[in-house]
Amino acid sequence: MREFAPGLRDSLGVMTFVRWHDGLRCPRCAHKHISRLRNQGKYECAACKYQFSITSGTVMHKTRVPVHVWTMALALLIETRGEASAKSIQRLTWVSYPTAWRMKKLLNSPSRGQALGVPWKEEQ
Ligand SMILES: [Zn+2]
Repeated sequence: MREFAPGLRDSLGVMTFVRWHDGLRCPRCAHKHISRLRNQGKYECAACKYQFSITSGTVMHKTRVPVHVWTMALALLIETRGEASAKSIQRLTWVSYPTAWRMKKLLNSPSRGQALGVPWKEEQ
């Protein structure tokens, strides 16, 4: 885990893959014709002109916690089957303890898929 997390340099790439592994879609109208806007790291829907980023509509969009920190915390929680303490998330990601605690709560909740904007399949 400790070696894995710093390797997640391209967290946006990871998130893009996780969210849209079956193809990029407009979060608003689900249209498939999406163009990438240069410079801004944003995308635009050809149908409704809605502009969005990878984190649009996810819990990551509403916080100042960078995407790579969410990715690291999520990886840690998956690795430990949700048992990682907020303290260990804090140590790994350098966020404050209350932030680590909040992230753990969100990422461990049944609605985490929704929070992350991904279809989440729970392990049996
Ligand atoms: Zn659209």
